[in-house]
Amino acid sequence: MTLERVLKAAVNAMIRGHHSPYCYSAHVPGKGYVNDGSAGFDRADYLKQLEWSARCEVDNLGFAPGYAEPGYAKPKRGVLFANWNVFPDKLQGILERMGYECEWSDEWALCDECEKAVRTEPSGYFWEPAFKEKEGSIVCRECYGDDDDE
Ligand SMILES: [Zn+2]
Repeated sequence: MTLERVLKAAVNAMIRGHHSPYCYSAHVPGKGYVNDGSAGFDRADYLKQLEWSARCEVDNLGFAPGYAEPGYAKPKRGVLFANWNVFPDKLQGILERMGYECEWSDEWALCDECEKAVRTEPSGYFWEPAFKEKEGSIVCRECYGDDDDE
């Protein structure tokens, strides 16, 4: 199975009600509440919004050939970035078995030179960024080299 088919199947399984997203609430415009899909009367609206959000994540899925972050091993096929909350929780395990690593799109960025992944959100107290921002672009430590350090 290709990556594209796996993602499509995951979205379809949720829309048909076979699998639930990990964590997703639909916003109900003008009604001031969120819809978690549990009430029968707003189930259709919930599924419609969920489908839209999940398809949007699939279309904007990020990819990196590897990590430029210390402590991360080279993935077999690459790193995928998304908001995984809108997919079934089993999806990450399936993708990992296919040789991909799954990361959160709001915690990582790509180096503008080598296109490998760097973490932009701290992973713990001792974390330090392994990249620099230069004129609006992100450059990983491997690309800027240690001699360039201030
Ligand atoms: Zn780089």
